[in-house]
Amino acid sequence: MTASSAPCSDHSPVSTGGQTPARASSAVPDFAVLGGGLCGRLVAWRLAGAGHRVALYERGGPEGGESAAWIAAAMLAPLAEAAVAELLITELGVASLDTWPRILAELPEPVFFQRNGTLVVWHHADRTEAPLFERRVRANAPRELADANFTTLQGAQLDAAEPALAGRFARGWLLGGEGQLDNRQALAALAAGLAQRGVETHWHTSVDEASLPRARVTIDCRGLGAKPALPALRGIRGEVARVHAPGIGLTRPVRLLHPRYPLYIAPKQDDLYVIGATEIEGEDCSPVSVRSALELLSAAFAVHPAFGEARILELNSQCRPTLPDHRPALIWDGGRGDGDTLRVNGLYRHGFMIAPAVADEAVRVAQALLAGRLNDADAFESLRGESRWASMLHARDTQGAHEPA
Ligand SMILES: Cc1cc2nc3c(=O)[nH]c(=O)nc-3n(C[C@H](O)[C@H](O)[C@H](O)COP(=O)(O)OP(=O)(O)OC[C@H]3O[C@@H](n4cnc5c(N)ncnc54)[C@H](O)[C@@H]3O)c2cc1C
Repeated sequence: MTASSAPCSDHSPVSTGGQTPARASSAVPDFAVLGGGLCGRLVAWRLAGAGHRVALYERGGPEGGESAAWIAAAMLAPLAEAAVAELLITELGVASLDTWPRILAELPEPVFFQRNGTLVVWHHADRTEAPLFERRVRANAPRELADANFTTLQGAQLDAAEPALAGRFARGWLLGGEGQLDNRQALAALAAGLAQRGVETHWHTSVDEASLPRARVTIDCRGLGAKPALPALRGIRGEVARVHAPGIGLTRPVRLLHPRYPLYIAPKQDDLYVIGATEIEGEDCSPVSVRSALELLSAAFAVHPAFGEARILELNSQCRPTLPDHRPALIWDGGRGDGDTLRVNGLYRHGFMIAPAVADEAVRVAQALLAGRLNDADAFESLRGESRWASMLHARDTQGAHEPA
């Protein structure tokens, strides 16, 4: 740790001090969801929508300011991410892109969402990055997806596709159909959705392993906060800038290929842009470094000089919850202890992109646990066998079952 670094647990402001939070309520809920960031909110909201009694415990407030989800650019870009992710992630991303609009339509508050594609550009000096990026995407993504959505743009075509960048780049790619949403609006709308569906929310309540709330099934969505239960989990620091830049008018996320500072600029509503993101090993949630701020802001300035007049609203950092294989995992504790626990974690840099599919699968496993259908290694194998996402499912302490990497 450097002199100025800070562990991510410093984000946790309030503790229950060892008390068991749910004791105030007499009836035991079907599910206790620990952690109300992206995943916890989505899983709790889905379970409540299916008629279950759900309690949610979040160390931060309803706005979600303690979560990685609060900082994220919330790009939903399975093809662009295929440059750094394997097929499972791409497929979870494609499935989730189709599900997000249905989720958002059911939430009680509006959330900015668009599917206008991703634009990938590079400066002439960095042109050797372009074939590398294309090769990685085509190697990792399903062929039909890449063939249908990878469009080369040259000169006037690029200018017409993204007029704000007219004359600035000679070549680029439009990755069709990719999306993005407003992360903070999504967290707020999900909080409103939890209230609407009668979820018992315990904001500002930190839960640790020694004081689990009473519930028939526990679902641990604490992100990096689950490290005491999942020691292999690690944080990968990401830093972003949020700026207000009226008059530029980018219509979609733009990714700039660069050998040292690959960057994206994700436009949100009202001329707000999220510029990100660094990717630095280490659980350090201290403020953004001068070096990172310089890199992010100068790369944005190089994409469009009008970013020089943008106003910096925020420089912020968080750590992405990451398992050793960089895959998401649903881990059943194998019925150890007083009750059943399912841990949903490892969403790394793709949380928004894959959360709907991951949450659907978590709901399926959680409901099997509640119904008593998941009680031994055979039952786990059978549930796994029925899953489209079998490689995401793991069990601990059940003979013949799977431990996450
Ligand atoms: C800089 C950056 C940019 C990103 N950009 C994108 C992007 O463009 N697209 C994309 O798909 N993903 C992106 N992500 C990734 C995404 O944000 C994460 O994958 C996602 O937030 C993980 O969801 P989660 O619910 O598992 O964890 P989190 O969102 O971190 O939520 C975990 C919650 O658990 C709570 N908690 C922790 N410990 C406890 C405890 N003991 N008791 C109670 N509550 C607890 C925390 O307060 C938090 O609210 C980005 C992440 C970062 C950091």
